[in-house]
Amino acid sequence: DADSTHSLTHSHPGGTVRGVFSSVASSYDVMNDAMSFGIHRLWKDHYVSKLDPSGGLKCLDVAGGTGDIAMRILDHARTKHGDRETSVAMLDINPEMLQEGKKRFAQTMYHNTPQVSFHLGNAEHLSDFADNTFDQYTIAFGIRNCTHVDRVLKEAHRVLKPGGVFSCLEFSHVENPILANHFASHSHEHCHLLAWYGRAYDLWSFQVIPPLGHILASDRDSYQYLVESIRRFPRAQRFADMIREAGFTVPREEQWEPLTFGVACIHTGVKV
Ligand code: SAM
Repeated sequence: DADSTHSLTHSHPGGTVRGVFSSVASSYDVMNDAMSFGIHRLWKDHYVSKLDPSGGLKCLDVAGGTGDIAMRILDHARTKHGDRETSVAMLDINPEMLQEGKKRFAQTMYHNTPQVSFHLGNAEHLSDFADNTFDQYTIAFGIRNCTHVDRVLKEAHRVLKPGGVFSCLEFSHVENPILANHFASHSHEHCHLLAWYGRAYDLWSFQVIPPLGHILASDRDSYQYLVESIRRFPRAQRFADMIREAGFTVPREEQWEPLTFGVACIHTGVKV
């Protein structure tokens, strides 16, 4: 976990992360629902409400995929704040995912407006964007797929304006310290419950998701890879430290927010 470089590419027989997402692009949205029982939608809703975009915010959504976060940002700004000035630049390394995103936005009122733009690129080198460009940087279920997480964070820091906010939604580890402490100070029953939950989650992710990927997307290997990438990703405390190492301020009181017992986590940092 102390290792900040995550070379995930070699573990996938198809070769690259790009390969993984090419092979799942069209079935991606269906699998997401199946894998999480639709909970990823609630996490994403919560993630964007917490950001509460408004007032003509300039946002960059990295690893934007088919646009789940970008769409929510624009919808939130419009419906909650009557804001049609907020914009999202969506970036993804995979042309097929980006294409699905474009198709989806083509059905909406944001189509052909300055509110949304699409960029093919790597989170590790945001060459399309100058320093101090954005107010808000989002990356949801994307950073764990990147080879050099430290470079992703440095680039995020570079393209954000001073005062800009980095926000990451990512799978995490169930046994996070906040929860462990909480349960340790309670009854044994709770500890058993937590251990049971951890085992059930492991069983679910290692025994159920890959075969499900096979059935729904005819692609067991890609989903096997996705599950392994979750396990390899740093624990919440280590990831918060990495965000600090990239230059962000991360307040100690609320270093991260665990969602669903830490199955996923929101991490925030501010560029001062
Ligand atoms: N953010 C979207 C969501 O929450 O639904 C998509 C998440 S999807 C699990 C991960 C995305 O990360 C894929 O679209 C993939 O192409 C993209 N990705 C992987 N490595 C990347 C990189 N180095 N730079 C940019 N995007 C990357």
